[in-house]
Amino acid sequence: MLARIETVSGKPLDLTLTTNASLLARKAQSLRDAGLSRVSVSLDAMDDATFRRMNDVDFAVADVLHGIETAQAVGLAPIKVNMVVKRGTNDAEIVPMARHFRGSGIIVRYIEFMDVGASNHWQMDEVLPSAEVVRRIDEVFPLAPVQANYSGETAERWRYRDGGGEIGVISSVTHAFCGDCSRIRLSTEGRLYLCLFATEGYDLRALLRGGYSDLQVSNAIAQVWQGRTDNYSEQRSNPAVRQARAERKIEMSYIGG
Ligand code: SF4
Repeated sequence: MLARIETVSGKPLDLTLTTNASLLARKAQSLRDAGLSRVSVSLDAMDDATFRRMNDVDFAVADVLHGIETAQAVGLAPIKVNMVVKRGTNDAEIVPMARHFRGSGIIVRYIEFMDVGASNHWQMDEVLPSAEVVRRIDEVFPLAPVQANYSGETAERWRYRDGGGEIGVISSVTHAFCGDCSRIRLSTEGRLYLCLFATEGYDLRALLRGGYSDLQVSNAIAQVWQGRTDNYSEQRSNPAVRQARAERKIEMSYIGG
């Protein structure tokens, strides 16, 4: 149903799915047939024990890799692999992940560990800055910076100097990009969230159920967006701000990444 929608200028939507890939091998073909363009897969380690420790899941890295291969085979592209880097837990996996995906056409994106939701027990000393990620990979596989694809792109791009493809780093903690942030999130029951660290959303479902026209709904979204002041990542270093939100943040599993 989503794949049939076009943008106002008549272009297809860029439809992508973020997944832990536990069902991807089984579902990739039907997702592709339904009109999905690409997938982003969460994978925090190549090593099984570390992967399970990070994610508290009971499937193996091999299952994720099989899902990625199947997605590639059915033409979902480009595939991105998201690795959240937590110092002391999976930072030894940075280079093995780069090594595994180099030359495959798959882009690994290294994401600084963030205090999303209230359940991941975030601490600043577990954040490994992206600059350190780049330094560690560059030592083994030399890197060069690449221009952003568009303004507001969340990942900073780097390419392997030998032509082995590219990686991205997302520095949400050490280099906040709230000023360029253009992300809006819709929960499954129709609440609109303007920030990953929001504590409440706007009820769009009430407008739809209330019989409002598309134009009225669109105007309501525009109004909410224009009144936006979110910049949590720029204020995270202030303990009072962190404390005020600590228990009230929504979980990422509820609104997507
Ligand atoms: S903290 Fe909020 S406003 Fe800032 S980049 Fe993240 S989602 Fe966007």
